[in-house]
Amino acid sequence: MKVTDIKRIANIGAGTMGHATALQFAMHGYPVNLYDRDEDGLARGKKLIEHDLATFQQAGMLDEDPATVLQRINYTTDLADAVSATDFVIESIVENQQIKQTVWQEIEQSVRPTTVLATNTSGLSPTALQSVLKHPERFVVAHFWNPAQLMPLVEVVPGQNTDSATVQLTVELMNKIGKHAVPLKKEALGFVGNRIQLAVLREAFHIVDEGIASPEAVDDIVKYSLGRRWNLVGPIASADLGGLDVFKNISSYLYADLANETGTDPTLAKKVEASELGLKTGHGFFDWQGDAGQQMVANRDQKLLKQLKDDQQK
Ligand code: NAD
Repeated sequence: MKVTDIKRIANIGAGTMGHATALQFAMHGYPVNLYDRDEDGLARGKKLIEHDLATFQQAGMLDEDPATVLQRINYTTDLADAVSATDFVIESIVENQQIKQTVWQEIEQSVRPTTVLATNTSGLSPTALQSVLKHPERFVVAHFWNPAQLMPLVEVVPGQNTDSATVQLTVELMNKIGKHAVPLKKEALGFVGNRIQLAVLREAFHIVDEGIASPEAVDDIVKYSLGRRWNLVGPIASADLGGLDVFKNISSYLYADLANETGTDPTLAKKVEASELGLKTGHGFFDWQGDAGQQMVANRDQKLLKQLKDDQQK
């Protein structure tokens, strides 16, 4: 199958991630069957889709009538019906291996033999997920980043039994719907993005635990240095630009001093124990009483939208 043979999409799950992937396909001209397990789930997804679409329109990033985009999405609670006449299935249901396996087995019974099967798991093993399928070769991870309508990256991750053509086709399709797809050579826990995010977080928590700097200071240091640079030049190219001899010297004395916690971080564990979960409970490393969190998210999303617009104009 070629990417041009992909005509209709099945989007399984209409939550935080699923509504956004459905919208992304619809905005790029694809008819989408959007499935959730009940009408409430679909209604929530529909509201989110309408909201995000209006945001794109207000930003001048929609070159057609929003109603035309919305008409491409067909809402259903019938899984077999959702997947049967589609060429690509993207699944974003609950992050639970057993539930995902059960749903994928059910999907496999109703899809065409050529349909590509993609999961948006955050970190479950594609090899484990595909192990219950009759045709694991067409199963792959397409890992979007939240908010998926604004973040460009999709990591495309094969399991041990994924065909390379499945990876290639998924990369092409993701690029066709305006994403920046990056294939991995093989699976690894956390894929790549979350490995790097968690390595940085482990060190950031350690710095706070050790009293080296406050959470505010850590965030400022990253935002005004690495954050700015890595948006333009990735960490490995940055090392090349800085000189590998310099980084060899730094690593030779610094690696041994860095956090190497293999369980979870002690302060993080204490906060979770005390139900200080961050924005959703009003406290985490920062105080989130009032609307500071909502404002931060709104500000972040406005800037992401602007960056996306800049990307599209390049
Ligand atoms: P969510 O809870 O917002 O949405 C999940 C949706 O799936 C809900 O609408 C729910 O009704 C539906 N669902 C749950 N179980 C189902 C089942 N058995 N059958 C059918 N529908 C079911 O979750 P989310 O944040 O959108 O996450 C979905 C997937 O995407 C997970 O695998 C998650 O790890 C992954 N993911 C999440 C993020 C994130 O930041 N939220 C980022 C990347 C990937």
